[in-house]
Amino acid sequence: MKYSAQKGTGDILPADIYKWQKVEKMYADVCHSFGYEEIRIPTFEQTDLFARGVGDTTDVVTKEMYTFDDKGGRSITLRPEGTAGVVRSYIENGMSSLPSPVRLYYNITAFRYEKMAKGRRREFHQLGLESFGSTGPEIDAEIISVVDVFFKRMGLRNISLHINSIGCPSCRSKYNEILKDYFRPHVSSMCEDCQARFEKNPLRMIDCKIDGEKEVVQSAPRLIDYLCDECKAHFEGLKSNLDAVGIKYEIDPNIVRGLDYYTRTVFEFVSENVGTQGTICGGGRYDGLVENCGGAPTPGIGFAMGIERFLMEAEAQGVEFTKDDNVKVYLVGMSDTANARISQICYQLRLNGIGCERDLMKRSFKSQMKYAGKQNIPYLIVIGDDELSSGKVKCKCMADGSETEVGLEGLTDYCIEHMA
Ligand SMILES: [Zn+2]
Ligand SMILES: [Zn+2]
Repeated sequence: MKYSAQKGTGDILPADIYKWQKVEKMYADVCHSFGYEEIRIPTFEQTDLFARGVGDTTDVVTKEMYTFDDKGGRSITLRPEGTAGVVRSYIENGMSSLPSPVRLYYNITAFRYEKMAKGRRREFHQLGLESFGSTGPEIDAEIISVVDVFFKRMGLRNISLHINSIGCPSCRSKYNEILKDYFRPHVSSMCEDCQARFEKNPLRMIDCKIDGEKEVVQSAPRLIDYLCDECKAHFEGLKSNLDAVGIKYEIDPNIVRGLDYYTRTVFEFVSENVGTQGTICGGGRYDGLVENCGGAPTPGIGFAMGIERFLMEAEAQGVEFTKDDNVKVYLVGMSDTANARISQICYQLRLNGIGCERDLMKRSFKSQMKYAGKQNIPYLIVIGDDELSSGKVKCKCMADGSETEVGLEGLTDYCIEHMA
């Protein structure tokens, strides 16, 4: 039997993992610098949560979820995204009693049964955050800043920010009527989905993948021109908060989210680079979501970005990822007595947090040297019977070939001082 990773899944091997660790650490650092704290949520939840929290008419929920009955007969779903689980946790753990805004970030795997295409995974990784309790627009600008700072600190260029407001239920219901009047003479020539949307959710006709390029859709009235006074003021507030810190943006009336609990701010970070154009990160405000999931009415806003997508962009842009030397020193043993002493030294070094390696394969002196060279270990120390009797060893720096004589007794202290 020969096993292989399931379609849409993959291993992240040691040759690549340092890039992931850099991205994840930088993301955590940036979130911490804004006062966000990490939350870890379960990989699966009861299926109904995602129908409520993601929307039971979305493709994600209707077509792409990994749903199954467990042995107790409960309907379980592997999380297709992070927000619903975080919202469930916020409600269940009574976080509304914490000082607002409650700022939470996450780093998760998520699962969607998607059609396979380049760069698509069925198990994928997301960085995201959610913030609860503030109506904004200051917090809206703040979470956009988190992404902006993260991209800048990672060295990403040519990323543009697109923002829009999709209003509140009140201005949206007025707009829906205007949109229906507009589309009524054209609806019969539009796709099947749009014909259903016309009755249920005409806003979604704007971002139809089939009809989106048609003149009739392109020149349809835009929600942004029909915002109520409060929503208009909120959007102006977002813009002036972004202007104040110098974050550039474009207003893009085509970003829509057709679910009732999404409100006001929506945004996307889009790559302008040839070959990797497209959305890297998307987010928005969801003032109706906590209530929809069974909590008290609570404003909220968040975003998510795929780590796979981010890495693809970073690599295409030539962002440099430097690999840390986890192992600092290789100790070459020339005899059994020397090897026994090397075991003690390695143990002491590791107790003090200095990474080191020694031979475990009974290699000859020559092949131990070769091994250390192949692994790019920055320091090398040879210990044989001569060194044991003289009590002195030479520590060789592989970068410049220089050698330093060190007393065997003081070797641990020397390594801590020079290699930590
Ligand atoms: Zn409104
Ligand atoms: Zn359509």
